[in-house]
Amino acid sequence: MPRYDFRCRECGDTFELSRPMAESGDPADCPRGHGDTVRLLSTVAVGGMAPAPASGGGGGCCGGGCCG
Ligand SMILES: [Zn+2]
Repeated sequence: MPRYDFRCRECGDTFELSRPMAESGDPADCPRGHGDTVRLLSTVAVGGMAPAPASGGGGGCCGGGCCG
C-alpha cells in the first residue's frame, strides 16, 4: 500500500499515512486532531525493495557466464 505524506496547516506538523491509491486524495486528519491538512507531493514508495529473482538454478553462478 502506498504511503502519502501530509502536512497540517494548523500546527505545521507532517505525518505519513498508508492508504489505498483510490483514497489518496481524501482528506486526512492530523495526529493532533486538526483537519486542515494538505498532501505533499513526495516520492511514493510502493512495496519497498524488489524481491530477488527466482531463478531455478540453485547454484547462483551458472547462467551469469562465469561457469564457462
Ligand atoms: Zn495539526
